[in-house]
Amino acid sequence: SDTLERHEFGAEVGRLLDLVVHALYSEREIFLRELVANAADAVDRRRFEALTNPALTLAAEAKVRILPDKAARTLTIADSGIGMAKAELAQHLGTIARSGTLAFAKSLAEAPAAEKPSLIGQFGVGFYSAFMVADRVEVTSRRAGTEEAWTWASEGKGDYTLAPASREEPGTDIVLHMKADAEEFLEPFRLQTIIRKWADHITIPITVARDGKDEPANEGTALWRKPKSEVTEEQYAEFYRHVAHAFDQPWATLHWRAEGTLEFSALLFIPGMKPFQAVEGERESRVRLHVRRMFITDQAGLLPPWLRFVQGVVDTEDLPLNVSREMLQATPVLARIRKSVTNRVLSELRSRARDAEDYAKFWENFGAVLKEGVWEDAEHRKEVAALLRFRSSAVEGWTSLADYLARMKEGQEAIYILAGDDTAALARSPQLEGFRARGVEVLLLSDGIDAFWPERLDAFEGKPIRSVTKGSVDLSKIAGGPDQGEAADVAQLLARLQELLKDEVSEVRATDRLVDSAVVLAAPPYGPDLQMQRLLRRAGR
Ligand code: ADP
Ligand code: MG
Repeated sequence: SDTLERHEFGAEVGRLLDLVVHALYSEREIFLRELVANAADAVDRRRFEALTNPALTLAAEAKVRILPDKAARTLTIADSGIGMAKAELAQHLGTIARSGTLAFAKSLAEAPAAEKPSLIGQFGVGFYSAFMVADRVEVTSRRAGTEEAWTWASEGKGDYTLAPASREEPGTDIVLHMKADAEEFLEPFRLQTIIRKWADHITIPITVARDGKDEPANEGTALWRKPKSEVTEEQYAEFYRHVAHAFDQPWATLHWRAEGTLEFSALLFIPGMKPFQAVEGERESRVRLHVRRMFITDQAGLLPPWLRFVQGVVDTEDLPLNVSREMLQATPVLARIRKSVTNRVLSELRSRARDAEDYAKFWENFGAVLKEGVWEDAEHRKEVAALLRFRSSAVEGWTSLADYLARMKEGQEAIYILAGDDTAALARSPQLEGFRARGVEVLLLSDGIDAFWPERLDAFEGKPIRSVTKGSVDLSKIAGGPDQGEAADVAQLLARLQELLKDEVSEVRATDRLVDSAVVLAAPPYGPDLQMQRLLRRAGR
């Protein structure tokens, strides 16, 4: 027709399609998980927008319908969600929103086989998985609150078309023209099995049509509302993979119900692996807020940013269903839930930290994020400090501040740290010579945030934290150092050096911190340490 518009895909989409279709072939049933998740998200979004715009309210119960048609060899996934306007079809299904193809390709190449399918979700490219099973995809959609509908269509080969269409109600139909070798996905029984496996916890009813009748395919109970005894490990893990867009086993599963002045159910997870999308990018917690089962938002900041790796759901009775964004910001209920949930996560970390080997798995994934808590959260600073782990000049593996205190030498008055870019290099630093000679342990810090938080913590259990690169570290009270008494002999040399270097350094001093090396740079006692100075220079300050 003359209204058909042809568009090229955004530059990266073509290559991406190729990657998705070929790299994930063995797991192709997940196309259904992705399309059903999108449909359920769309229903959630419509319900949320309807809170402030009643015109968008659904007349009937929302559901996601899966309609196989063997004769036509098509599979349709239909929802009554928010829908997409013409520009949204082009934007969401024609470009890559969240991240580059390159990063995706790199992760795909590096991830173990079992983790590859989760990358689709993490990189926000779930829709394109439809092309694993279909050689043509048509999306007919009508945005809630508007009258017009459009059909987006593509064979997944570089371009797509947009044409005017009609749809009785707002929502979206995705029609997949199945490849010859994908006919198994037209069997209702097969479809039901996939839904039960991947989407059982979705609280919106999902039906599969069989002999002209819609049969329920998911149980749809809110898992977090069930008593613990009724939930299996596998159900927890599956729900975790859904909320976290992950594919691994959670490292921790926290499921509890708060009763009394504050009523809520929470089901939270700490991932077993670091997400490929670096946690550094986004700082807000994405824990989902539900009110009486209904999804409200994943932007309520239910946990502080330094616990943003925690995933899951908090469902409360203490807020009205029609809670608005403004109200979310103002209500004291949320602040109280935040506090209670934060404390629960910290206590879980404390108890798991007793098993050093187990805790190391968590620490290596998220330790650098947790450290931000010492920097920015005065209320929890001390508690978080006790959860930190370090590399050290004295022991193998990870060690805590408490363990360090227990090993301190007689006469040692401070906790010594050395920050830099990598611990192997730090372990060889001449800065450590005098400490080694006296058997004084130094903690080696190599995360970006390590230049900052020690200043804020200042002391642990009454012992000050000192950077070894800061001037005038006094080791004289600790036995075992190199021969003293030579300092007096170098007075003349010092004066001469001071004169020669007066434009480069503020002071030249004799030190008992060195054993083999002749000189070492030190920072002034007050002000930034050497690593901080390096960072400031890099930042052009
Ligand atoms: P993600 O879901 O991670 O954002 P997808 O590739 O699965 O990535 O989907 C891209 C976008 O397309 C979604 O974010 C959403 O805006 C839009 N979309 C996909 N399916 C639907 C649908 N059934 N209804 C409304 N919008 C949809
Ligand atoms: Mg999706």
